Amino acid sequence: MSLRPLDLDPTKCLISGTWQSPVGGETLNLVNPSDGTVLCDIARAGVDDIALAVASAEAALAGDWGRSTAAERGRVLARIGQLVLENTEHLAELEALDVGKPLKQARADVLALARYMEFYAGAADKLHGATIPYLDGYTVYTLREPHGVTGHIVPWNYPMQIIGRSVGAALATGNAAVLKPAEEACLTALAFAELARRAGLPDGALNVVPGLGVEAGAALTAHPGVRHLSFTGSVGVGRLVQTSAAQNLVPVTLELGGKSPQVVFEDADLESALPFLVNAGIQNAGQTCSASSRILVHRSRYTEVVEKMAARYAALVAGPAMDDLDVGPLVSRRQKDIVESYIAQGADLYRAATGRIADNAPDGGAYVAPVLFANVPADHVLARDEIFGPVQVVIPFSDEDEAVTIANGTDYGLVASVWTRDGARQMRMAKKLRAGQVFLNNYGAGGGVELPFGGSGLSGHGREKGFEALYGFSVLKTVAAFHG
Ligand code: NAD
Repeated sequence: MSLRPLDLDPTKCLISGTWQSPVGGETLNLVNPSDGTVLCDIARAGVDDIALAVASAEAALAGDWGRSTAAERGRVLARIGQLVLENTEHLAELEALDVGKPLKQARADVLALARYMEFYAGAADKLHGATIPYLDGYTVYTLREPHGVTGHIVPWNYPMQIIGRSVGAALATGNAAVLKPAEEACLTALAFAELARRAGLPDGALNVVPGLGVEAGAALTAHPGVRHLSFTGSVGVGRLVQTSAAQNLVPVTLELGGKSPQVVFEDADLESALPFLVNAGIQNAGQTCSASSRILVHRSRYTEVVEKMAARYAALVAGPAMDDLDVGPLVSRRQKDIVESYIAQGADLYRAATGRIADNAPDGGAYVAPVLFANVPADHVLARDEIFGPVQVVIPFSDEDEAVTIANGTDYGLVASVWTRDGARQMRMAKKLRAGQVFLNNYGAGGGVELPFGGSGLSGHGREKGFEALYGFSVLKTVAAFHG
């Protein structure tokens, strides 16, 4: 792996516009999940580095960045997006090696990051307040203002996309950001920060402090200078982040997990549905918050769907990220152990098909062959828990009411999809499904940066992506002027 194109030194943090070693001088190993070797060392930032990063963000807000116009912020975001595009291959390679995702998926993530920059560049100067008709002699209007310093805690599965959606919206609205990437995958966070610096983002507007969640992450959530927290990750850590945010009484956006269903009715166009049914489960080796891990099928089409999905599964191959196969390794041996322990809990289930691991996949890699389970009871642990690996379950249903009951029968509520040609049923299902996004005759809609995203229940709360995110990353102020 070469870090040369951007001269990155991954043992450093970006604070006040300069790359600096963490105060404690400590580092962590970053492991390549495709073969288990150490890719490089990264900074192990701690509480002192977080304090410096927050102070740097506060200084940026007190300086040029705090005085910038929305149009100027849009312009710099557009330049960052352009530099991201110009470095597509380098960023994709970093993400593939670091996360283990096949190159074509990594390239798609680079494009998404660029799209976030473009979208928030264009949106920055379109966030308006309102005038409110009021009593005689008053003029009342609202202003949208930044929170101040925003904290961003990002997981390892889609670093570029999640940085794009949260940091992009935060900068567009004039906040100054402190970003804590995941210890398992942080190289594209560093590369993004360097590109932002080169694009002319003022010093301190974006600070990046890699390190452990329990150290740098916890310090960021506890820092009283942080006025808004955006967390994407697991339910357990989400609870800790919200608890910590409560101490400082700051708003928090939680983007957590999911157990998202696709509901296939008897009149579904199966040829269109099939690629989505499988791909939405195995993309990024199933390590996607909005992965579709449950496939609900009307009994009249059940056997047909299972057979067709099984045929696709039997052809799936998992292998090194740079070989660009259907599935890469999981992000770590730890994640592999978790997923394998779930698969073991399915020993009593009907295993409809299993993919395979490529012959050249190194022994040290975190590979799991994709598994499709069928006839799974809706209350089985594999049908309820988020597995975060290439494992899908197929569940039969008899009618619309039962489909809704099963689909809404987990503690999550992130994404759902419905496959039917019946327009009235589409509308009913869209209303009844508990999910932040509902897709009709598709899954994911290409992941558009324009589409507000977020969940309820164990999937979290708050919305990111799209214009909606700009409301979350800003504070409304009401001004009431009496002039007689
Ligand atoms: P994780 O919660 O272990 O880690 C996420 C981030 O939180 C990392 O940067 C980590 O260092 C940090 N962290 C860990 N402990 C912390 C603490 N005590 N205080 C502050 N920060 C801490 O999750 P993960 O294993 O990296 O990611 C997998 C989970 O993330 C899955 O459940 C998945 O569904 C979820 N996820 C959700 C979305 C979404 O948009 N809804 C997107 C991606 C991943």
